[in-house]
Amino acid sequence: MFGIVGPKSHNPACSGLHNPCRDMGNRMEESCLRNRIRYRVLLVVGVAATLGQIATAAFYSLYQERTVLAQNELAMRKLTFGVAQGLQSVMLAGSADIAQVYADRLKLVPEVLEFRIMRRDGTEAFRDNKTILEVNQRRGDDIFITREKEDSIKVMDPIDADFQKVLSQKAPVSIYATDDKGNRMLTFLAPILNVDVCYKCHGRAEPIRGVMRLTTSLTAVERDILKARQQSLLVLVLSLAGTLLLTGYMFGRTVVRPIEKVTRAMTRISNGDLDHRVVITTHDEIGRMAMNFNRMTEELTQTYQGLRLEQDKLTTVIESASEGMVVTDAEGVVVMANTAATRLLGKSLSKIVADGFSNLVDNPELINDCIDSGNSISVEYRDRVLRIHASITRGADDQVTGSLAMIRDITAEHRLENDLRHLATVDGLTGLFNRRFLDATLDTEFHRAARSHDAISIIMFDVDHFKKFNDTYGHDQGDRVLQMVARCLRESLRSFDFPCRYGGEEFVAIMPGLKSLAAQEIAERLRKTVETTAVDGIHVRISLGVATFPELPVDHGASLIEAADAALYEAKEGGRNRVVVARAAS
Ligand code: GH3
Ligand code: MG
Ligand code: MG
Repeated sequence: MFGIVGPKSHNPACSGLHNPCRDMGNRMEESCLRNRIRYRVLLVVGVAATLGQIATAAFYSLYQERTVLAQNELAMRKLTFGVAQGLQSVMLAGSADIAQVYADRLKLVPEVLEFRIMRRDGTEAFRDNKTILEVNQRRGDDIFITREKEDSIKVMDPIDADFQKVLSQKAPVSIYATDDKGNRMLTFLAPILNVDVCYKCHGRAEPIRGVMRLTTSLTAVERDILKARQQSLLVLVLSLAGTLLLTGYMFGRTVVRPIEKVTRAMTRISNGDLDHRVVITTHDEIGRMAMNFNRMTEELTQTYQGLRLEQDKLTTVIESASEGMVVTDAEGVVVMANTAATRLLGKSLSKIVADGFSNLVDNPELINDCIDSGNSISVEYRDRVLRIHASITRGADDQVTGSLAMIRDITAEHRLENDLRHLATVDGLTGLFNRRFLDATLDTEFHRAARSHDAISIIMFDVDHFKKFNDTYGHDQGDRVLQMVARCLRESLRSFDFPCRYGGEEFVAIMPGLKSLAAQEIAERLRKTVETTAVDGIHVRISLGVATFPELPVDHGASLIEAADAALYEAKEGGRNRVVVARAAS
């Protein structure tokens, strides 16, 4: 049971290959993309087309307006020319008086607001007899009959710029103006040239006889222009609508739809369907994009398969490992625990996840210390001794990626170690500490006592006449006696004293913190206990020597042993079965 848990388990809605979150996101992305591209292009095309078409329409309208005005001017020019011809015919026929009637009739023409024929001084012609008299005098006859009623009308100021322009340039001038009511008008000033046929009557001195002034209303022309503008606007709107519709349709067909196809395929592939490929229908940029995407997917598939293979291998290694492995993510959530881990911890995968990384062995402090110190720890957990190494895991950028615990079952090793330690420190026959342990411990305890100005006492004792005992009762019986003595010694001491077999039938007790008198009492009690305890009905006695620091001002534990040994020797010499306390030399 190889458990990979973690992000998938605590937020299943947004992980894994197929999930609704991502699908919905993909659909939204696709829809946004489609909308954005389509409408952006339409916006750009719309703005460009609108500006272009407005410019075209404006140019066209302006052109049309100018054409209409030019045509109007041309018509007026023709009209003026026709009038001039008419006047000339009237003059040549000797009917100058009809000219005024002719001019008045012209005013009846629709759109003609005013028509006047002026002399070079700006007064209206055909109103007095001045010219008639001049002509009759030049010709020497009375061909032209004078008017009975004369009047003089000043039409234009002779120094008017437009008037002077006509006289000097001998060319017509157009003047556009607006009256008080806002109506637009066109006034056309045209020269009346003094040509060959006129010389007979008017002489050849003046190149221009007078100026014709024709004023027409532009209302009808402006109506035509407005109509043309409205038509242009209608054409503009229709053309714009057509352009946008056609652009939208064509763009949708040729760009958006192919992109949608590629995007849908990309979405499927990104959702894990690595076997899917984009269908290439065009050989343009989108087609190449699809082709490149297919290539990329091919490589991705190969990489993915390679990774899957490696993952399978890794899974096999992790699963077959005898060491337990527990891994968390950066948030400390357990994301992986192998079978060995569940077996060693005696917990299911879900229990490990629920308990959390710190509670692997139900002791958070232990795991945290282990991580902080970087050292492995051994812990007794559910009848096993486990060795745990916990550490922080980091990525290539040194960012914390999670934690890892390696768990090893060291129960057998631990037991063996204990056995070895026991064998190395304990005497096999009596179960007391052996000589090696004694030597090491005595020194340590002595220095601790010396450092803390505390007392430490030693009892050394030896079984009396034990050689003889062995000879009498046999060696085995002797061994049983030694075991009994050892038991008596252990029972006489406190739990933190050290009962040791010094060698043969000699024993030593190390009693930290115990002063001479108390040590002497214990020695005496032990002596009595041994004396009164029979083994198979047989009794033995012991002789004891007691030595205490600081009563004895020695520097080493070994010196205490020597002193106790001397006291023991004294006890033997003094008749045995007694306690002798080593005294400091006076
Ligand atoms: P003393 O009163 O002066 O001590 O006389 P002793 O006979 O006891 O003399 P000593 O202490 O020299 O004798 C030691 C004897 O202890 C010698 C040996 O046979 C016996 N012994 C030493 N180790 C063992 C043991 O492990 N088992 C047995 N049964 N006897 C041992
Ligand atoms: Mg001895
Ligand atoms: Mg002895």
